[in-house]
Amino acid sequence: MVSPTDLSDMIWCPRIPWFKSIGVQTSSSHNTKKGMYFHKTIEDLFNQIRSMLSLHIPGKIIGTEIYLPQNKRSEDTLGLVGRVDVLRQTSDGFIVQELKSCDPPPSGWIYETHRVQLIAYAYLAEIDGFSPVVYGIVIYRDLMPREIEPDIDSIPNLVRRYYKLRDSFVMPEGRYENCRYCSYRPLCSILPRKAKITKEQLLSLRELDLTVK
Ligand code: SF4
Repeated sequence: MVSPTDLSDMIWCPRIPWFKSIGVQTSSSHNTKKGMYFHKTIEDLFNQIRSMLSLHIPGKIIGTEIYLPQNKRSEDTLGLVGRVDVLRQTSDGFIVQELKSCDPPPSGWIYETHRVQLIAYAYLAEIDGFSPVVYGIVIYRDLMPREIEPDIDSIPNLVRRYYKLRDSFVMPEGRYENCRYCSYRPLCSILPRKAKITKEQLLSLRELDLTVK
């Protein structure tokens, strides 16, 4: 199985599917209780505001937090499965909508990782019978809806590429321009860039705590 978030991680760096396949986690999945409470409070506030804003986006909301596919088998989507924040219906077709709590990119832009994630949801919706998906919308903290046209034909190749990277015998090349902003940096900074490291070799580094702090 693979999720739209996994595809988004792969776009960020091809090494991440490989790391995840051997259980390497980042600190973001180990929030403290206090941190989680703070995050949840802020998230709740943003979600309320965004829900109000959502009322002004075209289309009737036919569901939130919708698991896809729900009408087809995961085999029909190449193992791609996920939960889209909002699914809307207009007279022209369907709209997939994602809510992001991160700082927004410049006006009118969408981060590449979020674009892929949204197109993956559009692909899932289309295959599942919510067709056609006419466009996708991302809403960041600035509450400005950003639209994209869903190029769903690109998704099957991205899914196949994900499996290939995940199952690669040796560690894939990194997308090094992203390292300074990446939560895997503490790990990658101690791994030689060009070495052909295998999963077994990485896992055998007993002194290495595979939870990246
Ligand atoms: S630190 Fe750099 S090489 Fe490592 S996963 Fe992140 S972007 Fe890729």
